[in-house]
Amino acid sequence: MSWADEVAKRLPSMIALRRDFHRHPELSFQETRTAEVIAERLTKAGLDVRTGIAKTGVVGVLRGDKPGKTIAWRADIDALPLTEMLDAPFASGTPGVMHACGHDGHTAIAITAAEVLAARRAELPGTAVFIFQPAEELLSGAKPMIEAGVLDNPRVDEIYGLHLTTQDKAGTVNVRRGPTMASGDGFNVEVTGKGGHGAYPHLSIDPMTAAAHILIGMQNLVTKEVAAKETVVLSVGQIQAGTKNNIIPDKAVMRGTLRTFDLDVREQMLGRLQSFVADMARAYRAEARLDLTMGCPPVINPERETQLVHRCAVDELGESAVVEGHPVMASDDMSLFLRARPGCYFRVGISPTHSRSVPHHAPEFEMNEDGLPVGLRVALGVLRSRLGA
Ligand SMILES: [Zn+2]
Ligand SMILES: [Zn+2]
Repeated sequence: MSWADEVAKRLPSMIALRRDFHRHPELSFQETRTAEVIAERLTKAGLDVRTGIAKTGVVGVLRGDKPGKTIAWRADIDALPLTEMLDAPFASGTPGVMHACGHDGHTAIAITAAEVLAARRAELPGTAVFIFQPAEELLSGAKPMIEAGVLDNPRVDEIYGLHLTTQDKAGTVNVRRGPTMASGDGFNVEVTGKGGHGAYPHLSIDPMTAAAHILIGMQNLVTKEVAAKETVVLSVGQIQAGTKNNIIPDKAVMRGTLRTFDLDVREQMLGRLQSFVADMARAYRAEARLDLTMGCPPVINPERETQLVHRCAVDELGESAVVEGHPVMASDDMSLFLRARPGCYFRVGISPTHSRSVPHHAPEFEMNEDGLPVGLRVALGVLRSRLGA
């Protein structure tokens, strides 16, 4: 059987698998059923399977019958805290949880790619490592997986992966070298004052006034301390303080996110924010602390490996289906794998053709499944070419 037949034969099972994951979504670090299905399929295909890595992560190792390089493929497997609005027969069966980012598709593609390669093991040089990572949505799954040694045992030479996107039409692939996705750092600012009666603010230390100045001041840092050519976004999404109009509270808490494409700018801003917050609070006799809650560097695709993926995509789909889009301000902890090893993270279109595309992380999120075979073909093209099959 040819490679193309091997792929064609498995398309219905890949779609069924994606719909099964979609029907049974699980939140970050709770992907137990998902992990069981992955482990069962990989074991059946003949891979060496390890489970329970970084709580719910799974790794499958496929050793070809010939010596060669070790190439990893990474897929993220978690869903989001949303209630699905579509009523497809495979819509989420768990209220409040939904695959609204396409990770169900990533998982199905990776499993199917492993099954196709496993069927051709006899002619396969090297080793393919399939990494199924939990908790991408918390930007918290890649780090513990790397610490657990998924890139070292066996020693991975290069790592690749894809993200499905409704920003691109199904049938297209978006391969971009250099900065592709932004860093993402969550932060908490806790401002502590001294509560009291709203009639006598001079007898209190008002944490909310200090917090208001900190909020505006942080925006000024973006424009006054970073070169204009750099891209930085700082957004505060939560402010919590107080219980009543005439009570000055003890504390005010703000939560926000910082994003950029440059590692030095990220370091500079995170350092400046720490001292700025404390200094600004002091000006109002309050105290403040900034704590980072979660974070990852930007996704930066190296030149050589990006060119290799671009060539594979063109070979599979033709020149016109492969685009180089703009970098996006979304973040993905695939960046940590790409800091540890060379590789490339690219995007595969799943925009519906019959209607307007809906953004990821929305309850109306919908995937055009025509993008899945495209993702599978390019994934296999990359794996085969990097392994030398
Ligand atoms: Zn997401
Ligand atoms: Zn995602």
